[in-house]
Amino acid sequence: MRIDRPGIYVHIPFCLRKCPYCDFVSYPLEPGDAGGLQAYVDALVQEVSLRKDWLEAVELMPEAFFSLYIGGGTPSLLEANHIARILESVISCFPLKTGAEITIEVNPGTSSLEELRTWRRLGVNRLSIGAQSFDDTFLARLGRIHTAREVYQMVEWARRAGFINVSLDLMLGLPGQSLENWQMTLTEAVGLRPRHLSCYELTVEESTPYCALQAQGRLQLPPEDEVIAMLQWTHQYLTDSGYQHYEISNYALPGYESRHNRIYWENRWYIGLGAAAFSYWDGRRWGNTAGLEEYIRKLAAGILPEAYSERLDQKGQLGETIMLGLRLREGVSIPELEARFGLSVWELWEEEITGLMETGLLELSQGRLRLTERGLLLANQVQAAFL
Ligand code: SF4
Repeated sequence: MRIDRPGIYVHIPFCLRKCPYCDFVSYPLEPGDAGGLQAYVDALVQEVSLRKDWLEAVELMPEAFFSLYIGGGTPSLLEANHIARILESVISCFPLKTGAEITIEVNPGTSSLEELRTWRRLGVNRLSIGAQSFDDTFLARLGRIHTAREVYQMVEWARRAGFINVSLDLMLGLPGQSLENWQMTLTEAVGLRPRHLSCYELTVEESTPYCALQAQGRLQLPPEDEVIAMLQWTHQYLTDSGYQHYEISNYALPGYESRHNRIYWENRWYIGLGAAAFSYWDGRRWGNTAGLEEYIRKLAAGILPEAYSERLDQKGQLGETIMLGLRLREGVSIPELEARFGLSVWELWEEEITGLMETGLLELSQGRLRLTERGLLLANQVQAAFL
């Protein structure tokens, strides 16, 4: 079977401390806990090997993987020898295409120029830097451990280490943030000319300290019209600056879209490795246990650490593919999806699509269904129709 441009995700669930808005699986790293990191990397390498055996046993090892993404958490907390071990084990067990995109997420203040040089030598060719803001007041409010100065420094070091493909993650709609403040952050970011920019609106997730503060009336997010003004200004400013708006929250200079993230938006297959990592392969989605001890114990016993698994039927897979694909500005091609899943989109969702087109949230052109400008602002509502 030819598997279309699959990818690999590796999760590193450690951070120096937990940011109060974050609901990702990440654990605060105890100072000097090198043993904990070592045990985790040992388990991860064991998982790589077991998953390779499994892919071969079910005869679904692809000819080549197109991307490898090491995310977290804060992967840049790992020492260079840890990164080298992870890369070596992945590359020896899974065939990576020549020129595959290999990304590491890095948080400013957690890596040295020498480490970046080592990663580059090891074959990493893309850095995703968690900048979030260029205003120290807002960085402190977000509980981030770095300053704006360290963002500039990280970008400079990335260049000096030989990274061309650099992405910056930014957040907007922060507590107390004005349009002018966001404009300052984005202007500074564009001044550094990263190849890729992710601009995510802050959302308050359940069970986070931010959620508790909001319930107590102590977290004042900008009003909705201010956030909409930020999003609209972002689109205008970045497209005027030469960036292509290719996904709801993502912009890239031509040729620098995130190949790995496209796998998720196109609902293609990927293998997730590490505690709490999710995978999607041959119509099955599974998630690893989030507990570090259980993750390490299971792998030491030679057992894959899956904690959850579900198989999606063809309709479920098609609905998810539309839902995810609508995040892309190009939308989804209905004829291509019908050929891929052997089902009729119109028979399944005619009423929903027609209704969303009549309310001006979706548009159809040359067989492609995509969000309108208004639909972009109400994407969650549109996507829910296909669940
Ligand atoms: S650094 Fe990122 S992953 Fe870690 S706690 Fe903060 S937001 Fe979450």
